[in-house]
Amino acid sequence: MIGRSKPMFIEGKNKYLFYADKRGLEILAPIMYEVRKKTIPLEVVLEPEDASPWLRNQKMGSYLYICTAWEKLERLKSVAEEIGYSEEEAQYIGYGVKTIQIFCCRCHGLTEVIDQTKMAKCDHCQLKLSVSDHYSSLRQAYLGYIATIK
Ligand SMILES: [Zn+2]
Repeated sequence: MIGRSKPMFIEGKNKYLFYADKRGLEILAPIMYEVRKKTIPLEVVLEPEDASPWLRNQKMGSYLYICTAWEKLERLKSVAEEIGYSEEEAQYIGYGVKTIQIFCCRCHGLTEVIDQTKMAKCDHCQLKLSVSDHYSSLRQAYLGYIATIK
């Protein structure tokens, strides 16, 4: 799991940071509204501006929201995590079509599919796979088992 599809307002922070593209800003609008209502400082940076220098210069106690298309979210999340934002200090919201990786139990190859897919064919060895709920954070993929052919 790399993120959520709806932002949630987390109270009690000194400052709120928002990094998003245009569509992402619309999704974050209700959260920004809450922050402004409480007159807590906030900063907004729009994609494609580089988030790293900005994030590095923030003080402790800030809370970060990143909202962008799913395919870009994972990379941005790793940027924020590298800088030192923990799960408690940041929220990652994705929109659009979410894709996941399936780890093939036979050839160990990865196949990209749309999220919620139940059956897939391995791109590498053509094995028919049944997609499990078992997520491997090591491989950043869901495990695929041999599908029972009926
Ligand atoms: Zn395979």
